[in-house]
Amino acid sequence: MLNNKNCPIILLGDSGVGKSSITLKFIRDTFEDVYNPTFENSYIAELDINYGEKIRLEILDTAGQEDFINLRDHYARIGEAFILVYSITCRGSFNEMKHIKENITNIKQCTDVPMILVGNKVDLSNTERKVSIEEGKSLARSFGCAFIETSAKENINIEETFKTLVNDWKKSKERKVNK
Ligand code: GDP
Repeated sequence: MLNNKNCPIILLGDSGVGKSSITLKFIRDTFEDVYNPTFENSYIAELDINYGEKIRLEILDTAGQEDFINLRDHYARIGEAFILVYSITCRGSFNEMKHIKENITNIKQCTDVPMILVGNKVDLSNTERKVSIEEGKSLARSFGCAFIETSAKENINIEETFKTLVNDWKKSKERKVNK
């Protein structure tokens, strides 16, 4: 049973964008160059936010393949906070974000769902960038959520992603209690 301090986080996005890499960088501080497709992996972690307050994270790293489209509804139901990941080197993965976001909002029947939009592989910015920072910011604004560019490879903004999301999740929970 979940209590107030358990934050179920789900990473969603096309396969190959770096969901597993972001998760493993955060959990174990490791990075693999070799692509190893995931079906589904879950992890437990503890995160310190706001001067020593500890939140227990239940992180679910998903496959992100069309075959698992029914699973997306399931993920949208069980998650309380979502990391929507695209790769800045792949326009298709960016276009997919809108569908994933709409699916979550439809399933939850609510627009106040904690989420963060993540443009991963920012280390490839100079050579392979296909999606600009402005496009990312603008999409996040339309979602009403935070935006961040990350690199799992170079450990850029990985912890910040989780901290930002967990803070939003906490605020959203407080808003619901105060309603
Ligand atoms: P997933 O299918 O979304 O979980 O993607 P993976 O985490 O398995 O990553 C897919 C591929 O992209 C792997 O070869 C990773 O090494 C690579 N990758 C993941 N994150 C980054 C990153 O930040 N920068 C670069 N250059 N490659 C990355």
